[in-house]
Amino acid sequence: MDKDRMDELAGDPRFIPGIYNYCDRWCERCAFTFRCMNYALAQEEETDAAASRDLRNKAFWDRLDEVFETTRELIEEEAEEADFDLDEEELQESMREQQEVHEAAQAQPYSRTARAYIDVVDQWFKLNEGLGGDEGDERKSQAQASSPAGEPVENTPGLHDCLEVICWYQPQIWVKLCRAASGTIRAASEEIECFQEDADGSAKVAILGIERSMAAWASLRHRFPDHEDAILALGTLKRLLRQVEAAFPNARAFLRPGFDTDGT
Ligand code: SF4
Repeated sequence: MDKDRMDELAGDPRFIPGIYNYCDRWCERCAFTFRCMNYALAQEEETDAAASRDLRNKAFWDRLDEVFETTRELIEEEAEEADFDLDEEELQESMREQQEVHEAAQAQPYSRTARAYIDVVDQWFKLNEGLGGDEGDERKSQAQASSPAGEPVENTPGLHDCLEVICWYQPQIWVKLCRAASGTIRAASEEIECFQEDADGSAKVAILGIERSMAAWASLRHRFPDHEDAILALGTLKRLLRQVEAAFPNARAFLRPGFDTDGT
């Protein structure tokens, strides 16, 4: 896709500016694909690529060159506007600072809990390999037979849905929280307010991921009452939610473009 087409898309009023900055990137489950320029771009690229996606006849490399050219033009335009041009020393210094922020972000208590949650989930899937297949059906029958309240299991989200939700947010919660932590650290050191706002936005996306994951785990527990190990995942998320809410008291009030602003 060339730069003119990108400019044309950027001016289309149907798109909500910046909606893709604070979403969970789960386009297949998103209710705003029609209003999202990022989604439209991806769709067009896919269509373009469908005709030329063939590594054997060098179309792949042509497309990569095209993307590079478009990106280079954009970078040059931005560089002219911002008048930035780093020399070697400044570049090294900037990279060192970024690394420090990165490490400090990962060391935050909530980042560590989110990282631990990734391991808890990995371990759970290892222990319950095949849950989504035949074993899942078998366990589902057991759960139906042994459901203490006698509630029909079909009233809860599907097993596949729950597993999908858990897998989608498992790494994303940590990534979003590290980004939020970086924003807070930079906001404090550089005293730039928009960093904290961005941090709150990222924290809100993480909170939503945590809550949806908790719902999925709770549903799994309902399906498989004998699954004591799901409690560990739920407990870890509960702790994480407390930590994130304490660290980002304004996160819930953050308005994500489109999702929290009635589509404007
Ligand atoms: S806003 Fe929706 S469609 Fe756009 S990138 Fe995010 S999840 Fe995908």
